[in-house]
Amino acid sequence: MNKHHPITVLILCNILLLLHTLQAVHSHTVCIIGSGIGGASVAHFLRSYSDSHTIGQITVFERNDVVGGRMATVTIAGETFEAGGSILHPKNYHVLNYTKYLHLRVKNPKHSDDSLSLGIWNGDKFVYKTLNSNSKLPIVQRFVSIANSIRILLRYGVFSLFRMSSFVEATVNKFLKYYEGFESRPMFESVDGMLKWAGLYNLTTRPLGEELVELGLSPLLIQELVTVITRINYGQSVNISGLAGAVSLAGSGGGLWSVEGGNWQMAAGLINRSDVVLHLHEEIESISYLGDVYELNSTKGKSYNCQVTVVATPLDESSIHFSPEISIPPRKLQHTHATFVRGLLNPSYFGLDVLSDIPELVGTTESADIPFSSISVLKQHEKDVTYKVFSREPMADALLDDIFSVRVETIKINWGAYPRYQAPEKYAPFILDGNHLYYINAFENAASTMETSAVAAENIARLILSRLTGQVNFSSPNLKSFSSDYPSVMHSDL
Ligand SMILES: Cc1cc2nc3c(=O)[nH]c(=O)nc-3n(C[C@H](O)[C@H](O)[C@H](O)COP(=O)(O)OP(=O)(O)OC[C@H]3O[C@@H](n4cnc5c(N)ncnc54)[C@H](O)[C@@H]3O)c2cc1C
Repeated sequence: MNKHHPITVLILCNILLLLHTLQAVHSHTVCIIGSGIGGASVAHFLRSYSDSHTIGQITVFERNDVVGGRMATVTIAGETFEAGGSILHPKNYHVLNYTKYLHLRVKNPKHSDDSLSLGIWNGDKFVYKTLNSNSKLPIVQRFVSIANSIRILLRYGVFSLFRMSSFVEATVNKFLKYYEGFESRPMFESVDGMLKWAGLYNLTTRPLGEELVELGLSPLLIQELVTVITRINYGQSVNISGLAGAVSLAGSGGGLWSVEGGNWQMAAGLINRSDVVLHLHEEIESISYLGDVYELNSTKGKSYNCQVTVVATPLDESSIHFSPEISIPPRKLQHTHATFVRGLLNPSYFGLDVLSDIPELVGTTESADIPFSSISVLKQHEKDVTYKVFSREPMADALLDDIFSVRVETIKINWGAYPRYQAPEKYAPFILDGNHLYYINAFENAASTMETSAVAAENIARLILSRLTGQVNFSSPNLKSFSSDYPSVMHSDL
């Protein structure tokens, strides 16, 4: 057997050390502000599409003491429910891939869409209510479901409902272009460009209501069902822009899912598996460009230098100070107050005699007199129920005591939830300063969902890598195709 001479070993060690140092010098450091699905996704895609020669240390800063941002759970009376982003669409392929990659379990909602009873409350009465049956017999349930379908067709019109579902399907199909391979899918420096490429831009230039009138939907369908959906999903009326509206409508269809145990685990898992240095409970208060690096200062009085900085949080209510200053279009956030109540609704508030007459999902029409957007049953317990109430304003205790006859426990959360959509939408750039300061949440003006954050983050990861390496050819060895990296369902549906 060949014995290595000590000097040879020493030289080899020195070469390895030198290579390691050279790699450390040439690889780029990345700071990410925010550990929601956007921040976690950009870390994940940077690691998936490059190697350690290109991207060195990735540091994620999170001002809260947990990761996940607007994906969070709430525990009420010992049980855990989604408090923020809760529902995912069957064609949300990035998040679907994350669950596979991270071995998370997909959970379907308790109710199949057929069995969930719905009522549309106009402040005075239920203008529409699905039939409900307490029978557990499948044949009875099937009969009730058919009867409900007929009633909905009669009220809103076959033609109108068909047009609405075609509109949603066409929009979802255009969105699927964002899962195409690198050969056919460019990367985008602007949200406008990204939307135009997929044929989605025009939808952001006018309100959903206008779009649907033009498509020939009945006014009643828009005033009732569509309004209920936009109020639940974005806390806003049908004046939101058409694309946000289509996304909202898509989020009320079939096959919806969530992650067993909480959607926040996707962010946690991606951060865990992306070789990231995570600073929890550390808020970034300033970002200064020093010529070759960004200096980030935190509220802990600490300072960090990074060659690339990614802002993965909305800047609208943020106090981060930028030097030099950045200029982005002003945008307001819609606040959604999520109130979780374990107790019992008061039927007399709804002019009803018995509790079982109140639908499991109470949606609302647009009226200043109605103090909530929706009330839904999260879980039926033996003696009481856990409900989720969404409202635009905080729910005062006195009001809750009117709406509920019993309240065992109440938890209130005020979310800076999503942008206030206003067509024509104006977009902040993905690259905030022309250098290496990136902004994922510029895309939120198009639509705010967990998947759209992931899609925007993936685009930004590609943008960063191509701008760092000077390569625009995505089949370059630095940019690994995700389909080869982990089991992907991305192309299966296309
Ligand atoms: C009530 C509600 C219901 C929703 N329902 C759905 C739904 O059913 N389906 C769906 O797909 N989407 C839904 N959404 C939207 C979805 O949750 C968001 O679009 C998505 O989670 C946004 O992710 P993000 O990573 O871009 O931002 P965020 O999740 O907001 O992450 C940003 C993170 O940055 C941190 N941060 C901010 N500033 C600083 C700083 N200066 N320093 C350090 N850290 C900072 C924040 O604490 C936060 O953790 C809902 C949202 C809400 C509020």
